Amino acid sequence: MMIVMKPTATEQEVQAVIDRVQSVGARTHLSRGEELTVIGAIGDREHVARLELEGTPGVDRVVPILKPYKLASSQFKHGRRTVLEIGSRKIGGENFALIAGPCTVESREQTLETARVVRDAGAALFRGGAYKPRTSPYAFQGLGQEGLRLLAEAKRETGLPVVTEVMDSRDLEAVLEVADVVQIGARNMQNYSLLSEVGRCGRPALLKRGLSSTLEELLMAAEYILKEGNEAVILCERGIRTFETAYRFTLDLTAVPVLKELSHLPVIVDPSHAAGRRDLVTPLSLAAAAAGADGIIVEVHPRPEEAICDGAQALLADEFAAYAERVQAVAAIAGKATSAVAV
Ligand code: PEP
Ligand code: MN
Repeated sequence: MMIVMKPTATEQEVQAVIDRVQSVGARTHLSRGEELTVIGAIGDREHVARLELEGTPGVDRVVPILKPYKLASSQFKHGRRTVLEIGSRKIGGENFALIAGPCTVESREQTLETARVVRDAGAALFRGGAYKPRTSPYAFQGLGQEGLRLLAEAKRETGLPVVTEVMDSRDLEAVLEVADVVQIGARNMQNYSLLSEVGRCGRPALLKRGLSSTLEELLMAAEYILKEGNEAVILCERGIRTFETAYRFTLDLTAVPVLKELSHLPVIVDPSHAAGRRDLVTPLSLAAAAAGADGIIVEVHPRPEEAICDGAQALLADEFAAYAERVQAVAAIAGKATSAVAV
């Protein structure tokens, strides 16, 4: 941390602070500017914090050394939370946003049908993939440009803003034709050139946590986007790899309050990809809302048995309204207002 001395601080006061910092085993770095004298304390953060140097004679303020993810850190906003406005919807702060739609855009009928259902149930945004990150190169890779056209049609018809994934910066221009929010998938969380491109694209980004990434790595990835001047980043917990094999991934709900402590950015949860099973999606969603998530991104399909991708985890479109009501009720208990606007 940095100890900023008052301009009137005496030599003795400066030395007294240095001595106290060194007494707990930390190194000091004295920097004397024309107007400011700053003492950098490098060592065990906890030990130095316990010195409670604020209020010591000659000390103006104590500024914690910013985390490696400076722009994403809570300190950067002095405790204020980022609230994004996407169309007439808000994400972050006191708002709860439900983002719903199919895993992948398969056909005009499936896309429009799902979009209408989620719109009617009060979803804030519509999700759907046109470029799909598939484990197998032989699996369906998404409809690409045709998928983007169908998303644009769904947006026109329902008025819902669209979230869709970009996997390759060569597709970014096309994706930006329709995307109100550009998704970076878990597998691309550390694709730094893609992160930087999205940082420059001028559109909000939804950044998913990598399968085996720490929260610090997630925040460093967010930093790549923020660093390019894009301040609109949504963090998404979507389950991580653990030793447990009973379900697809382990949804790390502790990440929700912890990310909100570490960062000012909105934090949402994807229960679908974590669970991999429909029956787990509702309990995980309720838990995420209770944990204070700023929103949920969930997969929905009118006929999951026919889905090309992720059918096993898709909520049934017929049951989506009841699901949305329950999740929003829990979000309200957690102090959130739903930002959904019926269009
Ligand atoms: C998705 O949201 O469609 C997706 C593939 O998610 P993830 O990147 O979290 O696996
Ligand atoms: Mn999916």
